[in-house]
Amino acid sequence: MFEKVLVANRGEIAVRVIRACKELNIRTVAVYSEADVNSMHVQMADEAICIGKAASAESYLRIDRIISAAEIADVDAIHPGYGFLSENAHFAQVCESCNIRFIGPNSRAMNTLENKATSRALAKKAGVPLPPGSDGVVENEQDAIAVSKKIGYPVIIKAVAGGGGRGMRVAHNDVSLVKGYHTARAEADKAFGNSGVYIEKYIENPHHVEFQILGDHKGHIIHLGERDCSIQRRNQKVVEETPSPLIEHKFKKLRDKIGKAAVKIAEAANYTNAGTVEFLVDSHGNFYFLEVNKRIQVEHPITEEVTGIDLVRYQIMLAMGEPLRHSQSDIQFKGHAIECRINAEDPFDDFRPSPGRIEMYYQPGGRGVRVDTHVYAGYTIPPTYDSMIGKLVTYGKDRREAMDKMSRALSEYMITGVKTTITFQQAILQDPNFRRGVYSTNFVEQLLSGARRELIEEKA
Ligand code: ADP
Ligand code: ADP
Ligand code: MG
Repeated sequence: MFEKVLVANRGEIAVRVIRACKELNIRTVAVYSEADVNSMHVQMADEAICIGKAASAESYLRIDRIISAAEIADVDAIHPGYGFLSENAHFAQVCESCNIRFIGPNSRAMNTLENKATSRALAKKAGVPLPPGSDGVVENEQDAIAVSKKIGYPVIIKAVAGGGGRGMRVAHNDVSLVKGYHTARAEADKAFGNSGVYIEKYIENPHHVEFQILGDHKGHIIHLGERDCSIQRRNQKVVEETPSPLIEHKFKKLRDKIGKAAVKIAEAANYTNAGTVEFLVDSHGNFYFLEVNKRIQVEHPITEEVTGIDLVRYQIMLAMGEPLRHSQSDIQFKGHAIECRINAEDPFDDFRPSPGRIEMYYQPGGRGVRVDTHVYAGYTIPPTYDSMIGKLVTYGKDRREAMDKMSRALSEYMITGVKTTITFQQAILQDPNFRRGVYSTNFVEQLLSGARRELIEEKA
């Protein structure tokens, strides 16, 4: 059993990991930047070590400082959370060589799935369908045009090292392709320090359907069903739910089929610990592999609600070398869960980040309501990191109950001092198409353009 774990992250996920450790009687060590002195994860952990200035590059991304903190505190393992160093194979390797367990996939699997291009190659080898596209990185304009002509427009240019919905450009013809190719490369270089891009067919109006997987050190891998994350703004998830209404109502057999494909990819990578295999599903029920997220995911709580399985606890057990306690047939799904990512952003000003001091804070509760957050009244959201305030999760015996609880919970949530996305999520929950479960990844764009039209008409 681990006696002490260092949490190499901040915000709600650091709190989430500390909670799991406490329940397992494991002592915790927080690391924090100068901007996070008053953070909840610092207060909740048994020990806390400052690792540098506010900028992530000076703190949460500093492998040397995190390892020093781990050595000083004498921990058995490090949990990387999501974002920051969580998908950095080198970091996992450094932990392994310092005799500190990395609570995540083994570094070899991480290398195999290093980026979107290597992951595509692996999926192809495993015989899993993927959007037609380039074989790896596209090196120049001419190749970009040749590939796009071959697969047919529209196409999407994507950063191989991309993440968080950034570094993507859709192109409908040669002109927008050439322009998109260069801007995507420049953006990718700036955001990810890697200008490599590849091209794939742009799938129109799909659902984003992803499968949670768990793997142990004996090579057993299972999936825990899907999450539908089609409600996105600029390719970033805003609302997630499980089960997927598309699979539940239209393509019931797909759950088993895509689930098996997800496990196959994980097996091909000799994957261990928790991960997520992302797919797009079109209106005909065709599915296409997107990428593997080699970490715990933001939206993991909805899977926990319908399976009754604590994913972070499982991550810790698997990292200790414990075998999976469930076989595929042990995994049962019950009820419906929805998550809203509540961000400090102004939906009336193009979602401009709204950091600052939270004056009043009252969070919803009651049956079927869960809030994962690190904030409190008087807490100041620093401008340096992402703008998430917390995750509001509701559970009901069916989709309707989960939605009704979500609307009720959103209306109870009171936060003053910063702008939040709560009104935006209320509008989504009230939308007739969302209520019916009929939507795709362009849902938010349509909703916002409708709202804009109404505003213009009102002014006129
Ligand atoms: P999820 O699929 O778990 O919802 P997101 O793509 O929303 O994941 O990312 C989760 C967090 O990790 C966000 O804070 C996001 O900004 C960050 N993140 C994800 N990928 C990267 C990356 N490649 N580089 C930097 N940050 C990333
Ligand atoms: P990230 O690493 O930023 O999460 P993903 O490859 O997972 O990038 O894609 C994020 C989102 O972008 C998808 O959920 C989808 O909405 C959109 N997207 C990505 N690739 C395609 C594609 N080939 N066709 C249509 N939409 C896509
Ligand atoms: Mg993704």
